[in-house]
Amino acid sequence: MQLARRISRLSTESAFAMVPVVAKMRAEGKDVISFGIGEPAFDTPQNIKDACIKAINDNQTHYASSSGLLALKQALAKEGGKFRGMNIEPDEVVVTPGSKPIIFGSMHAILDEGDEVIYPNPGYPTYESVANFIGAKPIALPLWEKKNFSFDVEMLKKMVNKKTKMIILNSPQNPTGSMLSDKDLEEIAALAKKFNFWVMTDEIYSKIVYEGKFTSIASLPGMKERTVISDGFSKAYAMTGWRLGYGIMPKELAKHITTLEINANSCTNTFVQIAGVEAINGDQSEVEGFVEEFKKRRDLTVKLLNQIKGFKCQVPKGAFYVFPNVSEACKNLGFKDSLQLQAYILEKANVLVLARTYFGPKNAGENEEYVRLSYVTTPELIEKGLERVKKLVEGK
Ligand code: PMP
Repeated sequence: MQLARRISRLSTESAFAMVPVVAKMRAEGKDVISFGIGEPAFDTPQNIKDACIKAINDNQTHYASSSGLLALKQALAKEGGKFRGMNIEPDEVVVTPGSKPIIFGSMHAILDEGDEVIYPNPGYPTYESVANFIGAKPIALPLWEKKNFSFDVEMLKKMVNKKTKMIILNSPQNPTGSMLSDKDLEEIAALAKKFNFWVMTDEIYSKIVYEGKFTSIASLPGMKERTVISDGFSKAYAMTGWRLGYGIMPKELAKHITTLEINANSCTNTFVQIAGVEAINGDQSEVEGFVEEFKKRRDLTVKLLNQIKGFKCQVPKGAFYVFPNVSEACKNLGFKDSLQLQAYILEKANVLVLARTYFGPKNAGENEEYVRLSYVTTPELIEKGLERVKKLVEGK
């Protein structure tokens, strides 16, 4: 088949690649417990669903404006500005089907072939994949366990140069759950201004914070004009399947992202956007309850993981992932890496965890092994799943 060269440069998101594997195992009658994909086990709050149903019955079923419904952009500008302590105008907001089009679109609008883009590693695989697709040069910024999965500022300073066009941040982070400190954000902001590069900050987990306070780098002086915020409804409002996200960015860039949307999607689903207005402006108590519940599940997961021989797990501050060090377990079982451990646990215990390699290649000097668990499933399944892993790994 004759295809474009660029298509082979696009890689996949492993969590999605494992969905059919688990589905097949379940179809074969296996009782699989998945700590794989990161989506809240909660259902979307009723007020949001009602708003959507009403919008359909009101025949809000036509095209919407390509940058998003004005009512939603106004709601997002107001709420997003209050949340981040900054002023946001509705025409600095672009609404998209999920937040991924903001990542994809802003990288396409900003990066040329050969431009350097620094991204966190381990990290969300889409950043590196899209950079390669464009022909830009992805430069991995290592996150270190001994620094609570943050980076080394001196190392970052050495990576930045005049070819650097963008740095990608993700705090709270997937897959480690770590958060950038205000001091780190200030250092990055100083570098961005000095070397005149963009920041793309993926804030999809900004409402899922258990300890400390979330800060957006866009709110720091002189940063708004060089920052793209990517955010969405999937995680905070348990709306993954609705596909509703948005970006906050300088007006000039918003126009280009809108043009990309016109070419790729025409617009975001109209009645879904109306439900989005209700999500933002309506009662927040159910959504706040999600975070309390996630925190309990985090604590349970960390406690049980630390009781497994050869597993060592930090307590992450946000998102809904843990990233235990499993080097000892791999060694005890004679596995060369966490991928082998993942395969063993899936085959023998019917439990899915995701290996380190799914979140980027190992960094130079990184000798440890890790897996990611998404603890969004129920406490009962967390207990049952980790009991199975414990028995298997400890050979009982
Ligand atoms: N960024 C990160 C870090 C994520 O983990 C995810 C979802 N797994 C997304 C972006 C995409 O979310 P959505 O497209 O559903 O808004």
